[in-house]
This record gives sequence, C-alpha cells and structure tokens, in this order.
Amino acid sequence: MKTTKRQAVTKHGDLNGLPADLLAWFDRHGRDLPWRTALGERRDPYRVWLAEIMLQQTTIPHGTPYFLTFTQRWPTVEALAAAKDEEVMTAWAGLGYYARARNLLKCAREIAERGSWPETAAELKKLPGIGPYTAGAIAAIAFNQPAAAVDGNVDRVFARLLALKGNWADEKKRLHAEVERLVPAKRPGDFAEALMDLGATVCTPTKPNCLICPVSDYCLAKAEGEPERYPIKPPKKAKPIRRGAAYVAVHKGEVLLQRRPDKGLLGGMLGLPTSDWVEGERPEPSPPFKASWEEIGDVRHVFTHFDLRLTVQRADVSRRPNADGVWVPLDEVEGLPSVFAKAFRLATAG
Ligand code: SF4
Repeated sequence: MKTTKRQAVTKHGDLNGLPADLLAWFDRHGRDLPWRTALGERRDPYRVWLAEIMLQQTTIPHGTPYFLTFTQRWPTVEALAAAKDEEVMTAWAGLGYYARARNLLKCAREIAERGSWPETAAELKKLPGIGPYTAGAIAAIAFNQPAAAVDGNVDRVFARLLALKGNWADEKKRLHAEVERLVPAKRPGDFAEALMDLGATVCTPTKPNCLICPVSDYCLAKAEGEPERYPIKPPKKAKPIRRGAAYVAVHKGEVLLQRRPDKGLLGGMLGLPTSDWVEGERPEPSPPFKASWEEIGDVRHVFTHFDLRLTVQRADVSRRPNADGVWVPLDEVEGLPSVFAKAFRLATAG
C-alpha cells in the first residue's frame, strides 16, 4: 500500500489532507483484531456486525473472548439465527446490556430470512439493534460504502482537532458533518477503523499522546496546549440509586434460579429471585418462600440509568420449598448476568 508523506507545514483546522495521513499511519499501525482481515481483503459482514454490537459499552479485552466463542459456536449469521434464545442469552451473560443480545437474535433471524445483508447505512439502520454508528461502520467496513461511523471516540478526536468550544449538541452536528465530508471514496472502511484506532491508542480520553499522533499537524487543541480538556460537554447528571434484595436459596447443594420476564431489564436471563428495585428506602423483603433468611452483605452494580445496591440474603433449607424456578447444582451455576454473579459469589464464598 502506498503511503503519503506527512506534510511538514501545520494545517490547523483545515482537515482536507487528514484522511491520507491517517490512512498512511493505519497501514503501518492499525490494530490486528480477530474480526479484521488483512488490508484490502473483503470483510465478513457477520463478523463486523457481531463485533460492533458486542463492543458497544464493552472494552476490547472483555469483549474479545465472547466474539471468539460466538464465532466458533455460530460461524455464520444463519447458524446464529437457528440458535435457541436461551443458549444465546447464556453465552452473552457477563457482557451486559441484554437488550443487545435479544436484538442480536432478532437481527440474525431477519437477515437469515432475507438471505443477505443490506449494504447501505440507511437500510442497515432499519434492522433491530443497529443505530446510526453501527450502520455506518458495517456499511463502510463490510461493503466499502462511503459512510461515516461516529462514536464517542471519534467525537473526542474531532472535538480536539477542531477545538470545539460551543454548545455540545450543536458542535456534535458540526463534527459529524465534518467526518462525513472527509470519508474517502476509496477506503471508507479503513478510514472508519483508522479513526477507531487513533481514538483507542493515541488520542485517548485522559492522556492524548500528541507526540506520536499522525494528525497532530491539523490539531487545534494540540496547538492550544491543553487537548485533554476536549470534548467540552455539559456535566453528567448523577445516577439515581435503586435498592433491593437478592435471594440465594440453597437446598442439598442446589440453588434456586428464576428466568426473568422477556421484557425489561435483564429480560429473558436466568437470575436469582429478587425483590423489586426501587429508588429511596430499601423495599420490604419479598423472598420467594418463607424461611429463615440471613443477611450476608451488599453488592453494588452500575446500570446505564441507575446504580443498584442489592442486599444479599441466604437461606439453607432441608426440604425443597414450593417456589417458581429451577434448582441448579451450586458448582454448575454459570452464565448469570454480572449483578447476580456478584450476589451468588458473595453468598457462597468460603
Ligand atoms: Fe488527539 Fe493530540 Fe492527535 Fe490532537 S494531536 S488528535 S489531541 S492525539
């Protein structure tokens, strides 16, 4: 791949030459990730889509083993479409944001039924669980369409390049328009991945490494001398705190688990019985059956819209009570969502 020589003059704020410089850097320093192919090779839309969905709100080190497990178990979108809901939900456990897994299945089934993937961002956006960013990423990376993929990383990089100081909602529109304008006709997918890599490895949130940055000549924030102050966003609202209880019922080496309703938080997942989770005071106890419940301690878990404080209660019973759910041997409990895994570990440690 031919590389473009870096220009010696500074071009602060004028980004026209940026795609060529960024792609030249990407050719040498792009990350080797399991869902990528060698430069110039066609990408499999299934793998691109799966990786993009899995890595929303998830780090690459955490998401990669899930990607490898899924692609080994379900190597094609048709195979995933034919999987049982429970199998997929269990394999997803620990990745969080379980609505993503439900939409993943819906989307796989829609694609399997259609027989092929749509190729444009506009069409991809109509599929379950695919928003503007993911649609742009799949269109550009898998189908070489001139689409922009703008996520939080790209927001940060461009907020710095352009030193955006105004109202963040307005600045974001300007920034998105600028990224779209710059998408190169020839290598849109590489451009999208190069921006992802730049944001992840060089222009990082707290310590941008401007000394090795391939686009520093263009960067207004670097010229100002304080790039880490960007992006300038309105302060985040504090998350509300919800409280509740989780119940670990043990009978002859087995624990009671219940499948949660399909709709709602952690929908369709197997978990511990719980009380309601409410803001304010701790709710009244509501164990799955009457027993001598012992308070073991508290676990905390952060969801997108609230922080959860769960009091963990345990009861050891000699007779199997009449309660909804399934009894699972303690050493075979797996695939619990993180919040329940924490409560289970606390109640069974030692
Ligand atoms: Fe980010 Fe620094 Fe590069 Fe600007 S010069 S894009 S702040 S790493």
